[in-house]
Amino acid sequence: MLLSANNVIDKDRQCGVLELGTNGLQRFPMECIKALKHPVVVRRICEKEQMRDLEIFHDLKREAADWRRYLHQNPELGYRLENTARFVAEKLASFGINHIETGIAETGIVALIHGQGGDGPTIGLRADMDALPILEASNKPWSSTIPGKMHGCGHDGHTAMLLGAAKYLASTRNFKGAVALIFQPAEEDGRGGERMVQEGIMDRFGISQVFGMHNEPGLDVGTFAICNGPVMAALGEFDIVVKGRGGHAAEPHRSVDPIVIAAQIILGLQTLVSRQTDPLKSLVVSVTKLRAGEAYNVIPETVELAGTVRALAPSLRESAEKQIHAAAQGIARGFGGDIELNYRCLEPLTVNSTAETNLAIKAARALVGSDAVNDKFPPAMGSEDFSYMLEARPGSYIYLGNGQTAAVHNPEYDFNDEAMPYGIAYWVNLVETVLAVD
Ligand SMILES: [Zn+2]
Ligand SMILES: [Zn+2]
Repeated sequence: MLLSANNVIDKDRQCGVLELGTNGLQRFPMECIKALKHPVVVRRICEKEQMRDLEIFHDLKREAADWRRYLHQNPELGYRLENTARFVAEKLASFGINHIETGIAETGIVALIHGQGGDGPTIGLRADMDALPILEASNKPWSSTIPGKMHGCGHDGHTAMLLGAAKYLASTRNFKGAVALIFQPAEEDGRGGERMVQEGIMDRFGISQVFGMHNEPGLDVGTFAICNGPVMAALGEFDIVVKGRGGHAAEPHRSVDPIVIAAQIILGLQTLVSRQTDPLKSLVVSVTKLRAGEAYNVIPETVELAGTVRALAPSLRESAEKQIHAAAQGIARGFGGDIELNYRCLEPLTVNSTAETNLAIKAARALVGSDAVNDKFPPAMGSEDFSYMLEARPGSYIYLGNGQTAAVHNPEYDFNDEAMPYGIAYWVNLVETVLAVD
């Protein structure tokens, strides 16, 4: 018996799953497997045959990395992406794409590429283009040339990868239907995705499904991660004004001290999570701003608190508003003060739909193999304005491994150009999977 025990998952019992590729079958003929005393489940895998050759995308990477580094050196914020949008539109036109609409949500762009495979649906691929108000400390030769602005979330890479895919797809057009390339402004702090949806891009371009991708530091280059269902949290934001009665610091009994009340409220809000929420559900309440007082010897009239609520269920975010109000008001009134609450529901839950997530997994696995695509990646408590596009249409959001780099939003972060061929190839493979020619 020549079968290597290394290929048997349960070595002690000599049973389990034996995966055999085309080469493996030659090395271990079926007679040998049948000769095993104990049961072995044989699963034939032929990944080499199914997998896409990534070589062409490595060539495209060199060009896309140049675009990325240009964008990195010239970061722009929010909706003020005039130079970035001009650069993107010029590149799209140079690829022979003739349906390009600019000025959507101020500086957003949608471009359409029709396939050669006949009629079919139109799918949207989305990249974000905006940078962050951070002083860069990456010390890369292509660092930001604008102090206080940097591409600290990798949207330069996202833009360059979608441009790379656009160049490839415009020259091959090996799909049916059409692809809508969505370049959006103001992901970080302006809900540009929501505005693009409000300005009607889904109906106007006939988009039936929509897909997003974000780089993820800590995931190896050449790997992907995704999950079905909620992938990012719903976000709420609150401001609380605690109202007391000012007075002399030496005579607290003649005032109502809003600082002491605010301190109780800050601690009290934490019981929303620990005492009022099902422990198996996910809610985070963070007080992130606190403003009070001007002098050592004055008890102020008011204190301002602010913070965020993040939840993996929309109902939790909505009930948090009532709970924050009840807790803060109850505490304040108990001490003779009062509160004013301003609560705003911002980004909705980002939810991946099942059919589109399965297509995304299939497209990624055909590039890098089954093991390099984690399809059970845990949801994050951050939020994403791609959620608005996923509210409008079914779709899926995938993470692309950025390697062991600094975290996003860190001054030392830089998008990893080595991840670029995988991102470009993912877009291309996704299009050729979802819009496969019959
Ligand atoms: Zn970000
Ligand atoms: Zn981002």
